[in-house]
Amino acid sequence: MKVRELTERYKDKVIALRREFHQNPELSWQEFKTAKRVEEELKKAGIETIRVTNTCVIGQIKGKAGNKVVALRADMDALPVQETNKLSYASQNDGVMHACGHDGHTAMLLVAAQILGELQDQFSGTVKLLFQPAEESIEGAKKLVEEGVLEGVDAVLAIHIWSEMPAGKVSLEAGPRFAAGDRFKIIIKGKGSHGAMPHLGTDAIVAASAIVMNLQTIVSREIDPQEAAVISIGKIKGGGNFNVICDEVVLEGTARCFNPLIQKEFPRQMERIIKNTATSFNTQAEFDYITGAPPCINDEFISKIARKSLTKLYGDKIIIPYQKTTATEDFSYFLQKVPGIIAFLGTFNKEKGIIYPHHHNQFNIDEDVLPIGTALYAQFALDFLNGAKD
Ligand code: MN
Repeated sequence: MKVRELTERYKDKVIALRREFHQNPELSWQEFKTAKRVEEELKKAGIETIRVTNTCVIGQIKGKAGNKVVALRADMDALPVQETNKLSYASQNDGVMHACGHDGHTAMLLVAAQILGELQDQFSGTVKLLFQPAEESIEGAKKLVEEGVLEGVDAVLAIHIWSEMPAGKVSLEAGPRFAAGDRFKIIIKGKGSHGAMPHLGTDAIVAASAIVMNLQTIVSREIDPQEAAVISIGKIKGGGNFNVICDEVVLEGTARCFNPLIQKEFPRQMERIIKNTATSFNTQAEFDYITGAPPCINDEFISKIARKSLTKLYGDKIIIPYQKTTATEDFSYFLQKVPGIIAFLGTFNKEKGIIYPHHHNQFNIDEDVLPIGTALYAQFALDFLNGAKD
């Protein structure tokens, strides 16, 4: 029970760190102060660090001889949101807010690092601490993989504080947890004319309308109904006047799914419908599809180890099943390379007024859950390195 005792001992510290990060949020790729504070804290704990990219801090703790390497990841960036919470530690940076819980992730991993540093003689192998920038822009993890930070890593764990789930509960399911998230832009080109004489032009609005409707048939008619998928058009822009036939419409949207094969198929299916519909209306369409993050798929074996670790700490009632989300997380780039898991740590607490969703200007964390995440990071690392078996 060593890890749990230590997390209780450092509860004030994890809360203080979280509040400090909350007060000083920084946007993606601008986590300069945060990275510096992370380095300071790791240094205090006697942990060596390096920087990869300008703001990514990587710490390393070596235990007894052993070849296994486990990586623990916390994302550090905040969002362009104006906080409206009245908190003593509310954001001091106008228009920037930790509205996704990354302040909590960073604080939990820092304290877990300190604990693992103190328990260095109790594990074999290496713990790699990944303090990641730019999760919100879905760029950081991909960049770090390209930089080779996962080379030699055998397993990876991330924790996401989760606003919909009851405070203090944890979900550690295997399988898809976050969706793949792509975006696309369509430009439909017709020919303008007087609204009273549509036959003299080629109406881009009518063609765009048909494209919007026809795209709905991909999810409803082409994808296995047992799979989850979304194609949403969130932006439509065109036309200048009520009595003019519009010559150009721009559509923008997002496509989501949990199956990499569906993600791969999306652009081909969409292009076929867009181009053929545009042609049938005598218009032309340009289609730009930007593939984003893949889905986050938790590994079965790693999920089992994490469940055992958490049960050892708190009993099995703390673990609940929870539905996957169509939001995205760039941790998926790590999971493509190395078996791992992203855990959901519940923070919804009605009595405390912690009821707002992620990215909301009143988002907050039930800080009593922070020691649980801290303990999970540390215990999982110990158990994995000490050879947890199926
Ligand atoms: Mn997040």
